[in-house]
Amino acid sequence: MILDAQTLEHGASLEADLCIIGGGAAGISLALQFLRGPGRVLLIESGHQGPDAGSQALYAGEVADPALHSPPDTYRQRQFGGSTTIWGGRCMPLDAVDFRQRPWMPHSGWPIGPETLAPWYPEANTLCEAGEYDYNANTAVAGGMKPLIAGFTPENFTADGIERFSLPTNFAARYGHRLAASENVRVLLGTNCTGIETTPDGTRATTVRLRSLKGWEGSVNAARIVIATGGLEVPRLLLASRGPGHENGIGNARDLVGRYYMCHIAGTSGRLRFSLPRDAIQHGYEMAWDGTYMRRRLTLTPAAQEKYGVGNAVMRLHFPRIPDPSHGSSVLSGLYLMRWLLPYEYRKRLAGEEGKGLGPTLRHLWNMVSDPLAATEFAATMLLKRRLATRKFPSIIVRPPGNVFSLDFHGEQEPNPESRITLSEHARDALGMPRIRVDWRWTQGDIRTAEVTFRLMAEELAKWGKGSLEFSPAELAHDMLRDGAYGGHHIGTARMGATPATGVVDGHCRIHGIRNVWISSAAVFPTSSQANPTLSVVALALRLAAELKAEMAAVPEVATASAVAAGG
Ligand SMILES: Cc1cc2nc3c(=O)[nH]c(=O)nc-3n(C[C@H](O)[C@H](O)[C@H](O)COP(=O)(O)OP(=O)(O)OC[C@H]3O[C@@H](n4cnc5c(N)ncnc54)[C@H](O)[C@@H]3O)c2cc1C
Repeated sequence: MILDAQTLEHGASLEADLCIIGGGAAGISLALQFLRGPGRVLLIESGHQGPDAGSQALYAGEVADPALHSPPDTYRQRQFGGSTTIWGGRCMPLDAVDFRQRPWMPHSGWPIGPETLAPWYPEANTLCEAGEYDYNANTAVAGGMKPLIAGFTPENFTADGIERFSLPTNFAARYGHRLAASENVRVLLGTNCTGIETTPDGTRATTVRLRSLKGWEGSVNAARIVIATGGLEVPRLLLASRGPGHENGIGNARDLVGRYYMCHIAGTSGRLRFSLPRDAIQHGYEMAWDGTYMRRRLTLTPAAQEKYGVGNAVMRLHFPRIPDPSHGSSVLSGLYLMRWLLPYEYRKRLAGEEGKGLGPTLRHLWNMVSDPLAATEFAATMLLKRRLATRKFPSIIVRPPGNVFSLDFHGEQEPNPESRITLSEHARDALGMPRIRVDWRWTQGDIRTAEVTFRLMAEELAKWGKGSLEFSPAELAHDMLRDGAYGGHHIGTARMGATPATGVVDGHCRIHGIRNVWISSAAVFPTSSQANPTLSVVALALRLAAELKAEMAAVPEVATASAVAAGG
């Protein structure tokens, strides 16, 4: 059943065995596991079916350095479906190395291992509609995928890992009807959780406070609460929920909430040349039998990460920087000149000094008119395969003129307690909640990961003799930091740790010291991996759902908060 808060009586006090706060990838994946019970489930979602300015404005906040981080009301969507309404759909699981306590990576180590998440990935892959759960280029399609660079078998990189692409699936549009048809799960749209109250000793949450933008107020008396509001809003809600027993915010007795904020270090750099026939380089997507798009990538091996003391990282073959007209491509120039048609999140990385001013603009125009056929053909393909197709062509891919590629880098960030989300001291939103202040930081270690990855690739290509990579460390550092934190990956702000001293939540995503509140979000990742987070967010949500179901089935009667207090 899907309702709007406005249809409820003012001051309503609702009851639920499980209250899920947030209807994005995590919240919807969780709720779907309860369609037929056990227990009564209430999913609280701030937004509506589609974007609205009022709800989106609740996400606005402050940024310590606007050159390093986008405004907090960009790169996330406050609507039913959350940011899956605009995500890119790139999927891959975490690597085994990500879970390890790595002596060379401060604050690394998960309290769970890869084997804990492994059983949940196939179903997560299905929910994300990313095809079969097979991330090996040798087996993903019959006969294996085409080699990325024919004959190149580097020692420090694996070349047979792949990424798969979701439709990209908008979780609300795709799964909303299932929730609507369920009698067991109630979804409340236009409803904001403004705080969580606990017993005086702070060991158990009792009440979820609710408000709508139209003035409705209510509450939920919930036996169990899962916070699934995304990696920036999880710390906001925890920090804003203050009271006896948790004066610094829920789960924040050790001042860990909001710290260790990570995104990814990413950017495009270098000039990569090959003395190989054109078809020896696979620069694009392949399609699985079920239509899923897939792409190969080069991953720094765990042995190399350990040997050189750096983070996890991947690289993809890319085209030269789009703003720089010297690439000579009519397609890239067309894209650059029409970038204003794209949403902010997809336009941001297309901006650049090289394209600004009359001279570069004229050169871009010249590129376009000198090969109008390629630009027209490309526009038609994009219209058919991206705009009009249900399973969308994942991204613009253009073979660089002259076969000079660049490398697109996506790397892990070191967990850093000084990189953090706090509450603004002055600004409040329309519901009276303190807004967030984002102080995202990068470290020299982050840049070193990029530098070592590029250097090893340059050395391996030189040794092989059929390719070369030219880059400079200064240019690389500039390229990695040019746009600051990588977009919509908000990680680490309520990290998982075996003890209250090392984490906000335990290995089961339950807040240390509070028996009935869990977090379902990339906020719990203690390290950021090279991988985009959503597939793992969904896998963790599925595991949490199974654990909650088992617990709820063990308490067959209506498990009200008081029943749980009595030991349920
Ligand atoms: C442009 C872009 C591209 C991306 N591309 C990729 C990609 O290719 N691959 C990938 O893995 N990831 C990608 N991501 C990230 C991906 O979108 C997120 O990882 C994913 O959406 C996180 O799911 P979530 O449920 O944790 O949070 P969200 O999707 O943010 O959902 C949180 C939900 O909580 C609701 N909410 C927030 N506060 C409250 C409150 N107080 N009360 C009630 N409800 C509340 C929000 O309205 C929202 O619906 C991308 C993100 C962006 C922005």
